[in-house]
Amino acid sequence: MKKIYLFANWKMYLDYDESNILANAIALAVKDFSPNTEMAIFPSSIAFYPVCQVLSDVGIGCGPQNVYWTEKGGYTGEVSAEIYKMAGAKYSLVGHSERRYVFGETEEEINKKMQSCLDWNLTPVLCVGETREQRNSGETDAIIKEQITSALKDLDLKDLVIAYEPVWAISKGVGKDQVGQHCDDSEAEKMHKFIIKEVTALFPAVKPILLFGGSVRPDTVKYYLKMPHIDGVLVGAASTKLDSWLKIIQAV
Ligand code: PEP
Repeated sequence: MKKIYLFANWKMYLDYDESNILANAIALAVKDFSPNTEMAIFPSSIAFYPVCQVLSDVGIGCGPQNVYWTEKGGYTGEVSAEIYKMAGAKYSLVGHSERRYVFGETEEEINKKMQSCLDWNLTPVLCVGETREQRNSGETDAIIKEQITSALKDLDLKDLVIAYEPVWAISKGVGKDQVGQHCDDSEAEKMHKFIIKEVTALFPAVKPILLFGGSVRPDTVKYYLKMPHIDGVLVGAASTKLDSWLKIIQAV
């Protein structure tokens, strides 16, 4: 039976109190979730420490949504992989499309963040995905290949999670009418096969865990999870409400 990975990116949707309330509710509700499921939550930086404490007690992993790569020092506004590790992180998102396209994060910076996660024993969850324009102009495979090659450059990889998140499929917010364009499960599967081929060409000994992300909802999660190359999902909007996150867990 394949292990299923359910990862939740809370983005900047929840404030400190909301994050703690949701984390406590999840911890209570998932006491007997399937041992075959690995769950991880990516809260905002302000709520990271208390959320991580509550969730790690019930076997749920935590990670930041972003890290900085240097040691402690004069880097106003940043939080390093080292500091998150000390606060209990197991994973970290790296190169999320909102970091790339809203904050202008470069491939070189993403590679440094990957390196820093490995240095501090955090499993990086590398996010890759093409925009609608790139897909329409037939550049999808080239873009994904470039994102993978640059992010993994010169790394001594062991554990790796890659989330394929087509930018056009990501929700614009938490409202019902804010879902992204639908990425068909068979299209997602095709891209995951492509990703595994590219990673294997670079690191034959590494077997990455592959997640799909982009407006996954309780009624669509099962279609992605039945695909042979999709090990789990990275969920944004639908993970920020207790009922929809529990429905996703129950759908597995
Ligand atoms: C994401 O951006 O990581 C994501 C999966 O978002 P959503 O599920 O809201 O589309």
